[in-house]
Amino acid sequence: MKKTLRLILGDQLNYQHHWFTKVDSNVIYFMAEMKQETEYVKHHIQKVVAFFMAMRHFKNWLKNQGHEVIYYQIDHPENLQTLPSIIQELVRSHNIEVFEYQLPDEYRLDEQLKVISDTLPVKTSYVDTEHFYTTREELAEFFKGKKQLLMESFYRMMRKKHAVLMLGDVPVGERWNFDQSNRKKWKGTPQIPVSFTFKREPAAIINQLQKAGVVTFGNIDEEEFWWPVNRQESIDLLHYFCEHLLMYFGDYQDAMHTHEKFLFHSRLSFALNTKILSPKEVIDTTIHYYQEHKDRIHISQIEGFVRQILGWREYVRGIYWKEMPAYETLNKLDNHNSLPDFYWTGNTQMNCLQKSISQSLDNAYAHHIQRLMVTGNFALLAQIHPDEVDAWYLGVYADAIQWVEITNTRGMSQYADGGLLATKPYVSSGSYINKMSNYCQSCTYKVKEKTGENSCPFNSLYWNFLDEKRQLLSNNHRMRMMYSVLDKMDTETVRQIKKRAQDIIQNPDRF
Ligand code: FAD
Ligand code: SF4
Repeated sequence: MKKTLRLILGDQLNYQHHWFTKVDSNVIYFMAEMKQETEYVKHHIQKVVAFFMAMRHFKNWLKNQGHEVIYYQIDHPENLQTLPSIIQELVRSHNIEVFEYQLPDEYRLDEQLKVISDTLPVKTSYVDTEHFYTTREELAEFFKGKKQLLMESFYRMMRKKHAVLMLGDVPVGERWNFDQSNRKKWKGTPQIPVSFTFKREPAAIINQLQKAGVVTFGNIDEEEFWWPVNRQESIDLLHYFCEHLLMYFGDYQDAMHTHEKFLFHSRLSFALNTKILSPKEVIDTTIHYYQEHKDRIHISQIEGFVRQILGWREYVRGIYWKEMPAYETLNKLDNHNSLPDFYWTGNTQMNCLQKSISQSLDNAYAHHIQRLMVTGNFALLAQIHPDEVDAWYLGVYADAIQWVEITNTRGMSQYADGGLLATKPYVSSGSYINKMSNYCQSCTYKVKEKTGENSCPFNSLYWNFLDEKRQLLSNNHRMRMMYSVLDKMDTETVRQIKKRAQDIIQNPDRF
């Protein structure tokens, strides 16, 4: 074999990839902590630390297996900080004859690697990451010729194709979807076990980041670090989820609570997105656990969980590859306001936002409904430019990588794709937040009031949003009922609602 350089990106930590099954003295693996990756958006400190820690663990594992590895820490003197410059230099200095990489999941890196491949004076090739159930193109092929790209039909195809929770052609439980039963509010019971955490000593990495001039935001606490950074920790977290959380996962999937940031959510997204765990092993392990414990785990819990990974996760990835690069410029609702400062500080009197944002800044985590129906909902109602919303979501969460972030944010949450991914905008007044959480009980604002100084800002913003976006949304049959409610409101109420909404939009940081 010719002397080969193989690149491993920070989100390609697949311990089970075929590359690593045998040691070859002609192959050099290469990994780097680069400024090009810390600078494309401002990241949460925990996100950067978690990625670099996970990469360092992976490098140690590779070396222990006997592989040759070149690893550049962020402050390594030979680290040129961008992919093209480092690869060119390594090819030259190590007399490399072949360059190989795994297909990246981000469009940005895909383009960059194509250019690198075209300009290198050696033979180049790529392989699959062997992580996802689907190829990049599979969703586009499945929906070819169809007008609507419904997640539900994709999900059913995936269940059948991969024989997941199926009895022949029939779904286990004789229903495809138990979404309707997954909408309980959590009121203190069932008890949530003490969260499983990882003890860390991040001081050395933080010091290196500071010296290298990497700018981050958010907080980090060595006693409360929630991200598994190697194979064993990730497997431990998966088993912890099966034993303690899976039995209530579906029921409380949409619930929110002031004192419980994780509720029954798995926190597996970081391990999945870095490829430390594969979606197949997560699904196989949880289904096996369900089958062994049917006496205490209902089908609705496991189906709800499987739908997130086999359905939503693969679906948004397919949309990403079908629609990029145009997707990252879409702004179909024509929103142009700036993101309020309180997204970066948590300083707001709106309790739902204060709790969800502070939690995000403290833990680099918020669960799906906090992202969608609190922070995302407010951003859409306040008509924030999707570029600013995307930049925040891409930076703040440890699990944020563009293929999964942008589709969820610009698509599902901000409706900037005009309904490609969601059949209607995910907007609500305060009543939804009140129904699914205890936030409103200790809020400065009154969730039942639409107008006046004490009224919940989500209420006036909601009706104002419907009114302002009427041209774009009133023909959507799923919005008709809300437009007919709006149309029946008396003129004075509408005037007051709009006045209050304008005050909030013009000066959100006062609220
Ligand atoms: P659980 O609730 O335990 O779910 C299990 C797994 O299912 C997750 O780990 C995740 O891999 C998968 N999953 C669940 N929902 C989705 C979804 N909508 N799309 C894709 N996968 C899903 N997820 C990310 O991984 N990275 C992101 O950058 C990201 N950005 C988001 C931005 C917005 C505005 C919204 C509304 C959602 C976003 N999501 C993102 C999806 C979802 O919120 C997270 O995957 C989830 O909160 C991660 O926490 P968990 O591991 O405890 O998930
Ligand atoms: Fe949020 Fe309104 Fe409830 Fe306050 S009253 S927590 S602002 S929904």
